[in-house]
Amino acid sequence: MSVGVPGVLTEIEEDPFDLIEEIEQLKRDKDVSILAHYYVDGEIQDVADFVGDSLKLARDATTVTTSTILFSGVHFMAETAKMLNREKRVLLPDMLAGCSLAESCQPEALRKFQDELRAEGRDFETVAYINTSAAVKSLCDWIVTSGNAREIVERVPAGKEILFAPDQHLGRYLSEVTGRDMILWPGSCMVHEVFSIQDLLTAKRKNEGCTVLAHPECPQNILEISDFIGGTEAMRKHVMAQAEPQVFLIATEANMIHPLEKSAPQHKYIPVPGIMTSTGETCACNRCPHMARNTLQAVRNCLRDESPEIEWQPFFEDAREVVAKSLLN
Ligand code: SF4
Repeated sequence: MSVGVPGVLTEIEEDPFDLIEEIEQLKRDKDVSILAHYYVDGEIQDVADFVGDSLKLARDATTVTTSTILFSGVHFMAETAKMLNREKRVLLPDMLAGCSLAESCQPEALRKFQDELRAEGRDFETVAYINTSAAVKSLCDWIVTSGNAREIVERVPAGKEILFAPDQHLGRYLSEVTGRDMILWPGSCMVHEVFSIQDLLTAKRKNEGCTVLAHPECPQNILEISDFIGGTEAMRKHVMAQAEPQVFLIATEANMIHPLEKSAPQHKYIPVPGIMTSTGETCACNRCPHMARNTLQAVRNCLRDESPEIEWQPFFEDAREVVAKSLLN
């Protein structure tokens, strides 16, 4: 809401408690389930019906019984929910909530590269991270998340090469753990790319005996000094399995600390600092600007207006087949 002060437009924050109440009421009135990713604000995770990583949420989307899904996350996630639920309405609070990884791999560029490889006589299958548009998914053989990537890569026939897109860091890590050579697309996540190795080493020294948990989207130099590498759901299970209180340094989006604290409150969690590319200074947390478009206000507005909505596209059909065989079977 804004008020008219002469010459100045001032944003007035709405009371979060009022917004939460309004969201709960709108969900009931409009028959909506909210799916929220671990990287959105904790208060949105708390009003959601399903919370999780990309793999869990894709699976949860197929169990929703309401007529509408509101996906609090980014565009490719809402697209995935729609392709798996053609008959349901799928809403996304802000259509500008994109993803630097998905942006780095455009369908025309991928198709051209695949054609070039085929022209060279290369026999390959294309494995794409779920952080891709539906148009890109429709060009692939397999879709992986950080939660099931290893298992899917092992399903690619041994005689085939693997073209892995778009995350070069996850691809390199998978190549190491599976022993499969991969042709890597040169994409990366803007959030995981900026972790500061110097500050991580300093934080390790300051917190003697701590454990570093890193997402496989992090660059190799971060993974090399981490104690545990895994996607967000694997991180959550790992801390839950440790009964004794510990200090964990977390190298992923800073909102991940919210579900970790809820699942295993006995531990202390410290976000690994990142470097702000604009100034070169380090900052205390790593936030995804796309996920940050999911504010309580944006969620309320989306429920109230029943918009914006993900519209069905013709290529969703092919993308759905790849996603279903990779993530649901
Ligand atoms: S954290 Fe990175 S990979 Fe995840 S949505 Fe944001 S930009 Fe994309």
